Order: sequence, then structure tokens, then C-alpha cells
Amino acid sequence: MRRISILGATGSVGANGVDLIRRDPDRFHTVALTGGRNIARLAQMARDLRAEIAVTAHDDCLEDLRAALAGTGIAAAAGTQALVDAAARPADWVLSAIVGSAGLAPGLAAMGQGSILALANKESLVCAGALLRGTAERAGARILPVDSEHSALFQALGGETLDSVMDVTITASGGAFRDWPLERLAAATVAEASTHPNWAMGQRITIDSASMFNKAMEVIEAKEFFGLDARRIKVLVHPESIIHAMVTHHDGGSIAHLGAPDMRHAIGYALNWPERRPLPVPALDLAALGRLTFRAPDETRWPALRLAREVMEAGGAAGAVFNAAKEQALDDFIAGRIRFTDMAPRVEATLAALAGMDGFSRDPQDLRSVLDWDALARRKAAR
Ligand code: NAD
Ligand code: MG
Repeated sequence: MRRISILGATGSVGANGVDLIRRDPDRFHTVALTGGRNIARLAQMARDLRAEIAVTAHDDCLEDLRAALAGTGIAAAAGTQALVDAAARPADWVLSAIVGSAGLAPGLAAMGQGSILALANKESLVCAGALLRGTAERAGARILPVDSEHSALFQALGGETLDSVMDVTITASGGAFRDWPLERLAAATVAEASTHPNWAMGQRITIDSASMFNKAMEVIEAKEFFGLDARRIKVLVHPESIIHAMVTHHDGGSIAHLGAPDMRHAIGYALNWPERRPLPVPALDLAALGRLTFRAPDETRWPALRLAREVMEAGGAAGAVFNAAKEQALDDFIAGRIRFTDMAPRVEATLAALAGMDGFSRDPQDLRSVLDWDALARRKAAR
């Protein structure tokens, strides 16, 4: 039995994780499930998986959660500290599927007690890569990728060291506006940006796919996860989303990972690792697909990709500032305060404004310092 907790269980990745565990009841024991305001969904999941505890991030939802779990014997808790406490409960595996830098503190808590952290929450690697790696090392914990491209790289590497690797490529569908004329982008609505050609995901990452901020985050995620030099990480636009990533060796061989665009593969791979178990993911029919296409990414259309390179060159607190400014700009776009094309300039201006500050060039050493940079960058980006 693998003891497992799911942080952000009610979201898109989390619910897929819950679904996979529900299909394999003899293999998993559920410790904690966490969610936000969707109390009915959280309580139903906790009942289905017979979790030990369900936690909502919101204090004002505690009474509703208690009522929804009455008579089940499942404990209920609420608030930011309760979330961290739930993550720190003894478990073998913790799936971190919270969106945003809010996932950092619970992720650190999970690793602090030695759990394997199956990490979908890429924001925490972007804003605090060194801190996460250091925590894993000290606690004997391990991070497994859940993001599909990073899972694909991990699988394509197959345990080989990076010495023979020339570079790695992660693919991008190009998102909702891949084929839009550039002059239309400024008028793009939130609804238009919230549709994805291939993947069914939460709203924030879907909009980040349209702006390529998602891919920009993933390039940084790859650098932090694999310890790869930024120059060895490439992005390739691949509208069909069948090849997720590719490792190219110095001997001229490239090993790619292919699969249907279905997150249950990457989630299930991380939950079962190092085993491979049957998953409810359709096998590919390449003859039916007929052809796969590729193009080079256009940095005029997607300035976020250039910003990612600048962030990696700067190092230190740049990742935390980049992520927080991006989260703020995304909030502002969703709320109708700025246009789609205002997001990247906001993020760039925030980075420029904070780059001269004392301590910017040092990796944040603890959670407090990451959260300070995060708060500062949000305030700056909102102005
Ligand atoms: P989502 O919005 O569908 O779900 C987010 C979850 O986090 C929900 O359970 C929500 O209640 C919880 N949450 C949100 N804000 C919180 C806060 N402040 N404190 C505590 N909990 C909070 O998001 P998603 O699309 O499932 O994405 C989750 C993470 O996985 C993100 O980091 C995303 O980048 C990454 N990811 C998602 C996909 C995908 O297919 N959706 C693919 C790759 C990576
Ligand atoms: Mg991805």
C-alpha cells in the first residue's frame, strides 16, 4: 500500500489523480486531500477514497466541510497552516497539484518529512528551485515530474546521465492564438484565451498556454528539475501535441516521448513510479493521425519565451519575481483590468524594476524570503 496525499485534489490535475487512485483501491491508501471553495466536490472525493482528512484552504469554509463530512469519521480542517500540516502528515507520496506559488509551502512541508513529491505545481520550482532541491537533499526526499513535458524528458532519459546529452526539446501546441494575426491579439478576450486546442486543463494554465507563459515556466522548470544549462533547453511548436519532449545525444540520436495529450499518463506514471501500470489512456494510432507538424517558436508573438531566458541568466530571485509578476498580470487580465498583450510587458517591467534591489542576485534561502519577493513583485506588477 502506498500512502498518498493530494494537494489541490479538486482541480484539473488533482481530480485526475483522484480518478486514478479510485480505480486502484488496493494499491493506495489516501491520507489527506485538499481543495478550495468547492466543498461538495472535496467532501465527495474524501468519502470515495476514505481519506483520513480533508482540508479547505479557506477558513470560512470549515463549517460547510464539517457538515459535509459528518458521520464519516473523516477529519476536517481549514486555512493555510492546516494545509501545510496536512502536507506534513506521514505519507509515501504527495501529489502537489495546487496552482500558483501557494503550492510552495505545502510542497516543502511534504518533502520535509521525506515523501516523494509528485510535482505538478511548476510555479514552486520556478520561484524556489534551489530551496526545493536543498530541502529534498536534506530530507532524503525526491521530486518526480508530473508536468507532461518533464515526465516525457524523465522517461526519455531513462536513467541515463546528462553527460551524453547535447540538448533537450519540450514541445508547445501554441495555444489558442497560435494562428491568429498578431494585430488581433490585443483584443483577445478571456473566454478566447481560456480554450485550448488539445489539452483539458484549469483556466490559468490554459491562458498561460495562449501567452506561452506556461512554456516559459516549463523551460525554467526543466532547468531546475534536471540541472540543465539554459542553452541546452529548446522549445518547439508542435500543434498536434503528440510528441511531448525529446532528448538529443551527442552521438546524433534523439529519443522522443509520444502519447495522446491526456494528463492521466504523466500523473499515473508519477503515482506508480518506478513501476508502469495500465492506465486509462488511449494508445496512439499514428497511421490515423497521418502526419505530425513542427515550427520554430516566434518570439514576437510569444515574448514570454525571451523573458524566460533572461530570468535564467539573471538567476537569484528572478524566478520568484517572474512567477509572481506573471500571476498578478494573469489576475489582472482575467479581471479585465489589462489586455492580453499587456501581460508580458508588465512582467518585463517588474523584473527590470526589482533587478537592482539588494539581494536580487542571491537564490532565496528560505520560504520567508521567497514569499517576500513574491509579495513585492505582485505589488509592483499591479501598479
Ligand atoms: P486548477 O485551477 O484546476 O486547480 C487548482 C487546485 O489548487 C484546486 O484544487 C484549488 O482549490 C487549489 N488552489 C488554488 N489556489 C489555492 C491556494 N491559494 N491555496 C491552496 N489551494 C489552492 O489547476 P490545474 O490546472 O489542475 O493546475 C494545477 C497545477 O498543475 C498548476 O501548477 C499547473 O501549472 C500544473 N499543471 C497542470 C496541468 C493540467 O493539465 N491542468 C498540466 C501540467 C501542469
Ligand atoms: Mg506542461
